[in-house]
Amino acid sequence: MCSGRVDPVFVLKAFSNGVDGVFIGGCRLNECNYVTHGNYHTLNMVLLFRRVIEHIGLNPERLKIEFMSGAEANVFVEAVNGFVKKVKQLGPLGEGEGIDKAELKSRLAEITKLVPYIKVVNQEKLASRVENPDEYAGLFTKEEIEKLFSEVVSYYIDPTKCQACMTCARRYPAEAIIGAKNQIHVVDQDKCIKCGTCFEACPTKFGAISKISGEPVPPPIPEGERMIVRKSKEK
Ligand code: SF4
Ligand code: SF4
Repeated sequence: MCSGRVDPVFVLKAFSNGVDGVFIGGCRLNECNYVTHGNYHTLNMVLLFRRVIEHIGLNPERLKIEFMSGAEANVFVEAVNGFVKKVKQLGPLGEGEGIDKAELKSRLAEITKLVPYIKVVNQEKLASRVENPDEYAGLFTKEEIEKLFSEVVSYYIDPTKCQACMTCARRYPAEAIIGAKNQIHVVDQDKCIKCGTCFEACPTKFGAISKISGEPVPPPIPEGERMIVRKSKEK
């Protein structure tokens, strides 16, 4: 219904399924029927993810957005024909870039896992409205994207601070927090999508969750040592 509904995960899924190019058609900018102006959001998402796919070695021209009204069939036809021609020139996905199929699949899977993180880090720019197409290229720079991936954060629960209040576990969106009543919680790094929800949720009086970047995450506390013995119960 609305181009604003096109999540980057849909785009990456299409590429993971071997689609050679993704074309998104949106309503003309400033002509959105809703106050949300979802088409601006999609434009920003496309500008960001063109950089992201470029980062993993794909040609950014494989992802395109064009705006048109329902009465502009000619604009649509022209845009689609031009895009199909371009994608044919680029060749099959990955093959055109010299990336092995299995390697490409693994790169796309890694990036898909990081979508929530990428969105959180870029939320301000994703919500902005760039009116002038000349400014599109500067909204997300190559350098910013390199930095984004070199500084990927991990979330770690300090076992000496965790009070097993379960607040983080109740809010987690990815089943990455392992914990139960009276048990120190731990983050399953393989499942963590780096959304930062737990970091925001952990009460400041405990401050048990930290962001780690550029250094290895300490291993989780062994399962048999996670039980918290409350003082009142000790007596
Ligand atoms: S950042 Fe925290 S809430 Fe988000 S997926 Fe990772 S462990 Fe779960
Ligand atoms: S919110 Fe903080 S204190 Fe509570 S269980 Fe999670 S990490 Fe532990």
